[in-house]
Amino acid sequence: MKLYRAVKVRLYPNREERALLDQTFGCCRFIYNKMLEERIKVYKELKDDKETLYAHTYQTEREYKGQFPFLKEVDAKALQCEWRHLKSAYDGFFRNIKKGIKKGSPRFKSKRSKQSYTTFNINNNCKLDFRKKRLKLPKIKTWIRYRDNRMFHEEIHHITVSKNRSGTYFASILIETEHTLLPKQVIREETIIGFDMSVSKFLIAKEIELSSPRWYRTEEGKLKKLHRALSRKKKGSSNRNKVRVKLARLYEKIGNRKLDWVHKLTFCMSQHFEGIILENLNIKGMQQFNSGVSKSVTLDFSWNQFINILKYKMEDRGGYLVLIDRYFPSSKLCSKCGFKNKDVKLTDRVWTCPKCSAHHDRDINASINIKKEGLKCLKNNHIKIINNNAAAGTAVDAFGEDVRLMLYQPSSMNYESPPIREG
Ligand SMILES: [Zn+2]
Repeated sequence: MKLYRAVKVRLYPNREERALLDQTFGCCRFIYNKMLEERIKVYKELKDDKETLYAHTYQTEREYKGQFPFLKEVDAKALQCEWRHLKSAYDGFFRNIKKGIKKGSPRFKSKRSKQSYTTFNINNNCKLDFRKKRLKLPKIKTWIRYRDNRMFHEEIHHITVSKNRSGTYFASILIETEHTLLPKQVIREETIIGFDMSVSKFLIAKEIELSSPRWYRTEEGKLKKLHRALSRKKKGSSNRNKVRVKLARLYEKIGNRKLDWVHKLTFCMSQHFEGIILENLNIKGMQQFNSGVSKSVTLDFSWNQFINILKYKMEDRGGYLVLIDRYFPSSKLCSKCGFKNKDVKLTDRVWTCPKCSAHHDRDINASINIKKEGLKCLKNNHIKIINNNAAAGTAVDAFGEDVRLMLYQPSSMNYESPPIREG
């Protein structure tokens, strides 16, 4: 099985290299905005004549180059790639329309946001020198220094060069790797775990609780102060720019801390479990549902990012990540007898089953139901689940003290639960 893997490294370009990279960002932004402008204009003129609209041919990147010769100075592949970016932006927009969401129409690229361009490795014009730690990009004559210790032998597919809002440069190098490990066909039940997601505690199972630090909340004061300072500075002044960079750095720092934690946690989880079962959350729905919940979910945690990272880490070891349908009534079912108690409210932390009178903790009961549902799903996919009671201990026991410490790092963070407003 072929897989793409991205390796992101920080670049340290010198002054000339920075100028060249910035020029490429600028040209890519320019051609993207021109193409978008053309599409908007054509749409306005022809929107009542669908046939002509669909048959319309837009200017190619070559024609743009003829019109604006300065575009010829930069990497041609990067310019061509902008067409793909615009197309995928439109594809996303049309997908939204089909779903009935009037949102996500492609927007013009701004000089002030994150800058990036993508170039393809053709005839080996993108090269890495692991020994001297430097990267060769097309159209840039010198080799750019980078800092990273990873090495790989796979061929480079494409590279996305970016510069974030605080002025740091990165290269995300995409490589194609061969995945030789097949998914496990037989897994032991004790290495399968189901988690219920709760806003206050993050992930809860019968055996273990994993909490997440509240990154934004701990920096809230600093963020507020900088935002206030920024609004006081005169627009376009160099003082304003200084504060802007400071603020961008703080956001990046929080983001990096978060990503680091997600990698450590998902690594640990993939090491200890062969099957992980979670609910497929709909963050948008949660936002509408409860604004108090959404603040901590969207700001303090990127669920999609967590799922994507956990998924590939599980697959790397031949394990499974099962996502249960979000309409599965995990918190309303009795995990003992299967009775569906419609009277369980969001505020009920504990409840008693009216049928078998079992006493339930809301989250733990939900996690048991989630695990059961996940086991069903695995069996339906012809994965054999063995229940080997003779095996000493469970995967959770393998979460020794040291591992647990790592999961809860950094310990200086506060773990207090956010205020939950019930809608
Ligand atoms: Zn019951």
